[in-house]
Amino acid sequence: MDIQKVKVLLTKAEIEAKVKELAQMLSRDYSGKNPLFVCVLKGAAVFLCDLIRHMDINLEVDFMAVSSYGNSTTSSGVVRILKDLEYSIEDRHVIIVEDIIDTGLTLDYLRENLLSRRPASLKIVALLDKPERRTVEIEADYRGFCIPDEFVVGYGLDFKENFRNLPDVCVLLEFG
Ligand code: 5GP
Repeated sequence: MDIQKVKVLLTKAEIEAKVKELAQMLSRDYSGKNPLFVCVLKGAAVFLCDLIRHMDINLEVDFMAVSSYGNSTTSSGVVRILKDLEYSIEDRHVIIVEDIIDTGLTLDYLRENLLSRRPASLKIVALLDKPERRTVEIEADYRGFCIPDEFVVGYGLDFKENFRNLPDVCVLLEFG
C-alpha cells in the first residue's frame, strides 16, 4: 500500500465524532424497537462496527453483499446480490448501513428489494454522500458527511481491495 498516493479528507477524530453523533440519534429513535442493521459489505463493515459500539439499545446485525463497482471506479449500473440476508426482515425495523452514496443505484435497488420483504420500517444510514453524482432520487435518513465528487478510500472503502485499513477517509490521488 502506497501511502503517498492519498490525501486525508476526513480525519479519524472527525469520523469518530460523527459516528458517535449518528449512534446517539439512532439509539434515541430505535429504543425499544430491536432494530436490524443491514450492513452492505464490504465497504460499510468498519462503519457498522464503530456505529453499533456507540449504541446502547438492543439491536441485531445482518449482512448483504452486492456488486456495484467491481474493480473500477465508475458505476456499472448493474446491481447483483452476491450474498443475501440470513434472516427474514418481515415486520422488523430495518436500517441499511452504507459506506457511501454515489449515483444512488445500489441503494435504490437495495431499498426496493428489502421493501418487497415487508419490513415494519426501512431507513438508511450512510457515512458519506456525494450528492453531485446522483442519478436516482434517494437520500440517507441519517447522513455523516457530504463530500465532493472525488474517489475516496479508507475507513472500509477500497480501491481494488486496498486501503480499507486506513483510519482516515482519503482522496485517492493516483489510480496506479
Ligand atoms: P452507487 O450505486 O451509489 O453509485 O455506489 C455505491 C457504492 O459504490 C458504494 O457502496 C461503494 O462501494 C462504491 N463507491 C462509490 N463511490 C465510491 C468512492 O468514492 N470510493 C470507493 N472506494 N467506493 C465508492
